[in-house]
Amino acid sequence: MSRFFNKKYGNLEVYTPGEQPKDKKYIKLNTNESPYPPCPEVRAALGAEVVPTLFRNWSAVDDLRLYCDPECTALREALAYEYGTDAKNVYVANGSDDILNFAFAAFGENGVVCPEISYGFYPVFAKYNGIEYNSIPLNDDFTIDADRFCGVGKMVCIANPNAPTGLMLSIEEIEKIVVSNSENIVLIDEAYIDFGGESCMPLCDKYDNLLVVGTFSKSRSMAGARLGFCFGARCLIEDLETLKYSTNPYNVNSLTQLCGVATMKSQEYYDKNCEKIIEAREYTKSELEKLGGVFTDSMANFVFVKFPEFDGEYIYKALRERGILVRHFSNEKIKDYNRVTVGTMNDMKKFISAIKDIMGK
Ligand SMILES: *Cc1c(COP(=O)(O)O)cnc(C)c1O
Repeated sequence: MSRFFNKKYGNLEVYTPGEQPKDKKYIKLNTNESPYPPCPEVRAALGAEVVPTLFRNWSAVDDLRLYCDPECTALREALAYEYGTDAKNVYVANGSDDILNFAFAAFGENGVVCPEISYGFYPVFAKYNGIEYNSIPLNDDFTIDADRFCGVGKMVCIANPNAPTGLMLSIEEIEKIVVSNSENIVLIDEAYIDFGGESCMPLCDKYDNLLVVGTFSKSRSMAGARLGFCFGARCLIEDLETLKYSTNPYNVNSLTQLCGVATMKSQEYYDKNCEKIIEAREYTKSELEKLGGVFTDSMANFVFVKFPEFDGEYIYKALRERGILVRHFSNEKIKDYNRVTVGTMNDMKKFISAIKDIMGK
């Protein structure tokens, strides 16, 4: 730390992103990216394929000299159309992490409550924004006890499905939490909703204290382009816009806006990818069961698994030696587990063989 660094940031505990290793080629099952590339329309938008005749004289690259649309109009309209809402109820940002940070800053004045085991960024954003952070333990089976989040008198932030467990609250449970905390914002982080869950986004029409956050990073194959979105009452979106126009009005660059719009034109392509991922996830669960693995019934694009006879970190390292990267967390309560991103069926067959090899089976 330099002697110039603002003291209020002196003891931040930063978030540790999953490894993006360069030393060799791994089967990368550690950061929940999609194993599939973006749709052909996204490739075309970037000029990677023959551009449609209509746009022959037009180049996204030439347009980089211009500032992008700060209102992200086309993108918000495309999202609004797909989700059956109005563009004025949509906010987009440079990844959903950006939205979470702003939401904590905007709505966390009374403090924020999260599940004890959840996305590691929540406590970091709370501290960064000087917000009191409280966590509520999960049940022993890693499920979230919705009743304990009712009437807490603070902002509530829950990932649904939760990470790294993949377990879900029902829409009814979420509605109960929203109704009982009407004086505070309830933020539902739906980063993994497309892998079989049902979005609670339609509740935004009914409640002005609900913010539902989504991302293009997982099901929509665009983690590197950085694009997140959220839905909420117009007054909430305006508050986020106030923070955006006070820091960085051009928070979503022009190439990402183009790719986002192109993505929304190919929902069927992404739906098919999600189906393939769900199939590979269920295959992985059934194989893990045969091997004595203990895992949650994940509804996300990862499985969360331990093997009673083996240390979690040992499995992580043994997989790494075999060219497979998964995510291990040192947190005492989950250190026996690993979070394994669901890749292609082929990736998962290789993962299962590696596990058999490690177990000597
Ligand atoms: C991956 C993830 C995010 C971050 O998504 P970005 O849009 O890439 O910033 C947010 N929340 C949860 C729970 C995640 O797992």
